[in-house]
Amino acid sequence: MNSGQCIFCRIVKGEIPAEKVYEDDHALAFLDILPRSPGHVMVIPKTHAKTFLDLPENLIGPFFLAAQKVLGMLKKALAPDGFTLGINHGKVSGQEVDHLHLHIMPRWRGDGGHPLQSVISNPPSEELRIIADRIRGAQ
Ligand code: AMP
Ligand code: ZN
Repeated sequence: MNSGQCIFCRIVKGEIPAEKVYEDDHALAFLDILPRSPGHVMVIPKTHAKTFLDLPENLIGPFFLAAQKVLGMLKKALAPDGFTLGINHGKVSGQEVDHLHLHIMPRWRGDGGHPLQSVISNPPSEELRIIADRIRGAQ
């Protein structure tokens, strides 16, 4: 997708309104328009990158630094009991907006939610060692 048509690039440029909660030179955080919990925020790099793998190496640090700052702000402002952080990476995982975004969802005891791993139940038939060998070989 052309970054000119990307909805999150348009939020960065101020062409589309959003409830921005944090901004620095490299990253922006704003409330998800369909929040799954109070304070559900998305942190994005200002540079268009479809997925985490597409984000230039020099922007990885600033992206995670912004995420940590936003996490601290959410903790101070809303006093949740915890957080779920996650990235839908690729269409099959549920990525609808093709601009990298980290979901941060504040969690409270008894909120009815589940751990992140519950989004998939497709355990491997191969031994862990076989799979690990294959991954190590790809370094
Ligand atoms: P994903 O499925 O990870 O691609 O999530 C995309 C998220 O972007 C969804 O949770 C949407 O609610 C959210 N979203 C889409 N458009 C906007 C918008 N204009 N402002 C804020 N959040 C948005
Ligand atoms: Zn974009």
